[in-house]
Amino acid sequence: MSEEAQNCNHQCEGCNVEDCASRTGGGIEKFKLHELTKVKKTIAVISGKGGVGKSMVTSLLAVSLNNAKHGAAILDADVTGPSIPQAFGVQGKQIYGDDNGIFAAKSKNDISIMSANLLVETPTTPLIWRGPMIASLVQQMYTTVIFGEKEFLLIDMPPGTGDVPLTVFQSIHVDGVIVVASPQELVSMVVEKSVNMAKTMNIPILGLIENMAYAKCPHCGEKLDIFGAGDLNKVAEQYGVPLLGELPIDPKLARLVDEGKIEEYSEHYLDKAVEVIEKL
Ligand code: ADP
Repeated sequence: MSEEAQNCNHQCEGCNVEDCASRTGGGIEKFKLHELTKVKKTIAVISGKGGVGKSMVTSLLAVSLNNAKHGAAILDADVTGPSIPQAFGVQGKQIYGDDNGIFAAKSKNDISIMSANLLVETPTTPLIWRGPMIASLVQQMYTTVIFGEKEFLLIDMPPGTGDVPLTVFQSIHVDGVIVVASPQELVSMVVEKSVNMAKTMNIPILGLIENMAYAKCPHCGEKLDIFGAGDLNKVAEQYGVPLLGELPIDPKLARLVDEGKIEEYSEHYLDKAVEVIEKL
């Protein structure tokens, strides 16, 4: 550690020192994946707040990577709003364990999935827990669950920039971050906070995906800017991150998620994001 890093005052703004504890994880040792889990790269999907489609984008990226013959696994770390199992139609009874550990559930097309929602009695049982317990559960899922041999592990992160995402980021090795935002967040400072969190943690930001960017008229196909047309490139430039794609509000997608059949979605809105992940 450089001398400058040792004298770190934890004020990251305006400081270019790369190897200080504040940037490399606050000196906290990283947790290790289970010895039977082998992944090449870990991607965290984040958003400034809940409900913008972070889980949707995580699921679609996993589906696309899997369809492109890269094995994919998902760790659903959005413990208080877990929606991944529903999208893939996986259930708690698929989870089992032996002396080696707990095995992740498998989707129809063999995506490994672990979510706190698969551990509760019924999918509607809420986990009414405080932050430190939630972070600890995520760390436990990360270390004790067997995801198998997969090229990519996608982590659907808890939303926001509070203590839970921060603790998870500090304790898990992440190779790149994808930021999801809906048009409204793009014009507020919510996205900027997420981007700054990743920058402060020194994690490479792969890019920004705009969800619910527009809707298509079912009759004439016209693009409708429900939340207004933003200048996305300008926004991406402002944050200094590449724009990786736009996902429209798609009733077909919502229906497939409700039916647990997201793997049947065949549109290619996230191809650019997939290309960037493939090159990691
Ligand atoms: P988050 O993970 O950010 O909390 P979700 O991915 O769970 O958000 O999405 C919130 C809701 O919006 C879910 O019911 C999801 O099915 C729906 N949704 C998200 N993105 C789209 C989209 N592009 N088209 C249609 N429905 C969507």
